[in-house]
Amino acid sequence: MIPSHWYNIVPDLPAPPPPPLHPATRRPVGPGDLAPLFPMELIGQEVSGERFVAIPEEVLDVYRLWRPTPLLRARRLEKALGTPARIYYKYEGGSPAGSHKPNTAVPQAYYNAREGVRKLTTETGAGQWGSALAFACAQFGLECEVWMVRASYDQKPYRRSLMQVYGATVHASPSPLTKAGSRVLADSPDSTGSLGIAISEAVEVAGAGEDVRYALGSVLNHVLLHQTVIGEEALAQLGAAPDVIIGCTGGGSNFAGLVFPFLREKLAGRIDPVIRAVEPAACPSFTRGVYAYDFGDTAGFTPLLKMHTLGHDFVPDPIHAGGLRYHGMSPLLSHMYELGMFEAVSVSQTECFEAGVRFARTEGIVPAPEPTHALAETIAEALRCKESGEAKVILTALCGHGHFDLAAYDRYLSGAMEDFALPQERIDEALARLPG
Ligand SMILES: *Cc1c(COP(=O)(O)O)cnc(C)c1O
Repeated sequence: MIPSHWYNIVPDLPAPPPPPLHPATRRPVGPGDLAPLFPMELIGQEVSGERFVAIPEEVLDVYRLWRPTPLLRARRLEKALGTPARIYYKYEGGSPAGSHKPNTAVPQAYYNAREGVRKLTTETGAGQWGSALAFACAQFGLECEVWMVRASYDQKPYRRSLMQVYGATVHASPSPLTKAGSRVLADSPDSTGSLGIAISEAVEVAGAGEDVRYALGSVLNHVLLHQTVIGEEALAQLGAAPDVIIGCTGGGSNFAGLVFPFLREKLAGRIDPVIRAVEPAACPSFTRGVYAYDFGDTAGFTPLLKMHTLGHDFVPDPIHAGGLRYHGMSPLLSHMYELGMFEAVSVSQTECFEAGVRFARTEGIVPAPEPTHALAETIAEALRCKESGEAKVILTALCGHGHFDLAAYDRYLSGAMEDFALPQERIDEALARLPG
């Protein structure tokens, strides 16, 4: 069954998360500050104190194209590992765009269309969010303009094609079309781009247009809220108490979507799973970043967000998990991490692809590079169970398929894939430019 409501964890937390601040006044931002970028309904959800938000019928109608998604047991992987653990994965790759992103793209497009918006702008890293939003805009008759991080634009041309099939206009970022992009190009004409730069470009264009708004595919509270359909369904499907829940984190939305409903049950004392976020060693905001106010974008257009950050102008190495190459982390998850509500670990790129290939050869699904992070840790946990003889129940999110990522698998299989050691100086250098 598709849930009728999204779950908002904020009222259940022991303390509320620190508010976003206006970059000039350093006062908490009000609805008026956000109105040029987002429709009022989403601004309301961003600060909502309601535990449950009803999913509009028009949104449920589109969700029905692929929801509820399957919860599968990875019996063949368990057998290959020789583990007594039971591994379950919630598979979001069956959506039209092939990931969990349409879960929020659809309501975002719906609320914008209902409030008279004509066009949405956005950024995309690996192209998953751009294709999800392009699909959602097509459902509600909106135009869609996407700035795609240059590294992915070159590596993943078919994600661009998919966005265009859905009717979107796509630019490589940094682009000469915006002031933010032009500034970066003037300094480094060969820039491979970053999510932070692409966000600056999309926000600049949305802020300048009367009936143009911006849409973000992760990080913000309303995005995490929409993704809770994943966890609500999994909670109903699992029928056993999980011992460990593992998810990959870029901006944190698929992880939050899976774990928030389970955390609600944990806070109520009904279950007691260990919850673990997994991030790339090349972009480790939880494990090596600081918890501080920082900009969400490179140019400094967004409100200041208190989050785990590597610094707003940190440019991660071009690893293939483009969706995890973001300098910051969801402020809500960052706050919860500070409260000790879950753990975080990082893994290297080649270890992830090894796990992805292992999963494909046993379970058949080729995972997107992002969830291979969760799979690498899931396999590690299952092997620890083999050592200890514990028959733990492990739950993970397989948040997208890797059909557009076969060039990355080629690199891995040919032995050409490298791991990037991230020197502490690069982090320190970017952190030195945090807003004071
Ligand atoms: C975008 C994306 C991610 C990273 O974003 P989160 O908000 O952290 O979920 C992870 N996996 C896939 C398949 C994605 O498309």
